[in-house]
Amino acid sequence: MAENNRMDKHNQKKKKNPKYDKPKCRVCGGKRGMIRKYGIRLCRRCFKDNALKIGFKKYN
Ligand SMILES: [Zn+2]
Repeated sequence: MAENNRMDKHNQKKKKNPKYDKPKCRVCGGKRGMIRKYGIRLCRRCFKDNALKIGFKKYN
């Protein structure tokens, strides 16, 4: 059925790429607002809390 095939296209599960880990915060496990730059792997909130401990400094 042509109608069903068309719908299937949108209901297919997304292929998972094993090479590409889902970014998760190391502290709270959240996935939103992630910072993967420099391999920090923290969300923006936890990054703010830990930035000084890791060695980031404010420049403003
Ligand atoms: Zn976090």
